[in-house]
Amino acid sequence: MLKYDLCIIGGGPAGIMAAIASGERNKKVVLIEKNDEIGKKLLLTGGGRCNLTYKGLTNKEFVSRFGKQGDFLLSSLSSFGVEELIDFFNKRGLALKVEDNKVYPKSEKAKDVLNFFKNELKKNNVTIITNAEVRDFLFKDKKIEKVLLNTNEEIFADNFLIATGGKSYPNVNSNFNGYAFSKKMGHKVTSLTPALTPIETKEKWVSVLKGVSLRNVSIKLNKEKEVVGDLLFTHFGLSGPVILNLSQRIKTKDKIFIDLFPNKKIEELEKEFLDLFDKNIKKTIYNILSDVIPLKLAAVILNFSGINKEEICRNINKEQRKKLIKNIKNIEFNVIGLLGFEKAMVTKGGISLKEIDSKTLKSKLVSNLYFAGEVIDLNGESGGFNLQMCFTTGYIVAQSI
Ligand SMILES: Cc1cc2nc3c(=O)[nH]c(=O)nc-3n(C[C@H](O)[C@H](O)[C@H](O)COP(=O)(O)OP(=O)(O)OC[C@H]3O[C@@H](n4cnc5c(N)ncnc54)[C@H](O)[C@@H]3O)c2cc1C
Repeated sequence: MLKYDLCIIGGGPAGIMAAIASGERNKKVVLIEKNDEIGKKLLLTGGGRCNLTYKGLTNKEFVSRFGKQGDFLLSSLSSFGVEELIDFFNKRGLALKVEDNKVYPKSEKAKDVLNFFKNELKKNNVTIITNAEVRDFLFKDKKIEKVLLNTNEEIFADNFLIATGGKSYPNVNSNFNGYAFSKKMGHKVTSLTPALTPIETKEKWVSVLKGVSLRNVSIKLNKEKEVVGDLLFTHFGLSGPVILNLSQRIKTKDKIFIDLFPNKKIEELEKEFLDLFDKNIKKTIYNILSDVIPLKLAAVILNFSGINKEEICRNINKEQRKKLIKNIKNIEFNVIGLLGFEKAMVTKGGISLKEIDSKTLKSKLVSNLYFAGEVIDLNGESGGFNLQMCFTTGYIVAQSI
C-alpha cells in the first residue's frame, strides 16, 4: 500500500508551498486539487500581477495588518518571514520587483509564478492529483488514516494538511468542505464573512470609468480622517487597495469623498491651474486636464463642473475654474453596499486559532492534522499580506512534519 508522508488537500498558494518545502526535505508528498489545475486563484491575484508580499515592516508591524488575530503569526514569521520568502524565490530563480513596498514577480505575471511553482513541484517529485475532490477523512486510533476522493480513490498518509482556502471567489474555489471536515474533527469554525470587498455605489455613471486607476488619492469615509492610497473604478463602484482596506468599516448609505490631489490646497491648485491655462490659452481644457488626470475621469469632472470639453483655456472663467477645482478635490460617492463573497478577496473567519499550535500549525485536537492559508481564521490587509500568510503557514507545516 502506497503511503505518503504528507497528504495536502488544496492546491492553492498555501498547499503548493507546503508541498515544495516538504519535497525539499525528501518527504513523499501528494497534493490533491479539485479543479483541473492547481493555483487558479493565484492567477487572479494582484490584477494578474500577483502581489506576493509586502516588504519593509518589522514582524510586529506586519502582523498588525491582520488585526487582533495577527500575533498568532509572529512565531511562524520569525522562521519564514518576508525576507525568507524573497530569498526562497531568488534562490530558485524567480526574479522579483518591488513597487511601493509591494513585491511582485519581475515579469508582473501571476502565470510566471504559477509556472515557477509547477516546476519546483516537479523537481521535488510531488505527486499532484487534479480533478479530485476530497470528500471524507477516515479515522483510526484518534488519527486520520486516509482520505476518500470523489473518484473513489483512497489516499493514505502519516500527516494531512487542510489548505482548502476560503469562501471568497467561489468560481475558482467553490468547495467549502475544508470547514466541514474540520468541524467534524472537533474544530471550531468562527463566523465567515467577506473581507477586502469592493463597494457598489449609487452613482451609476462610475461604470464609464471602469478600469481607471488612481495612485495616492485621498479617501474620506463620512467624517473620518482621510486615508491615502490607490483606487480602482469598477463598473459597479469602487475598488483598489485603499477601498478594500477600508471595506470592513463601510456600510450602506455611507459617503465616500475622493480628493485627487491630497497634497495640494485649493489655493495652490487654483494658482497652478491659472498658470497652466495662461500658458496654454489656445488648447482645450480637456487636453490640459487630461495631462494631469486620466482621460475618462477628466471628461467626467468637466461634465460635473458644467464645462464643455472643447472649451479653450482662454475662455474658462474664474467661477468655472473654482468649480473644477472643487470637483477635483471632492468627488462624492454614496455607498449602496459591499459586494459579497463573489467579489471578496479573502474570507474573514475560519478555523479557530485557539485549536491550532502557532509554532507548528498542527491541530491541537488531531495529532496528524495541520492547517495552512486562508482556511485559518486569519485575514490581512491588501498589499501582499494574505499571500505571505499562506506561504508562511504552508512552509512551517513542511518543517513540522
Ligand atoms: C481577485 C483576487 C485577488 C487577490 N490578490 C491578492 C494579492 O495580490 N496579494 C495577496 O496577498 N492576496 C491576494 N488575494 C488573496 C489570495 O489569493 C488568497 O489569500 C490565497 O489564494 C489563499 O490561498 P489558499 O492556498 O489558502 O487557498 P486557495 O488559493 O483558495 O486554494 C485552495 C485550493 O483548495 C482547493 N480545494 C478546496 N476544497 C477542496 C477539496 N475538498 N478537495 C480538493 N481540493 C480542494 C480549491 O479548489 C483551491 O484551489 C487575492 C484574492 C482574490 C480573489
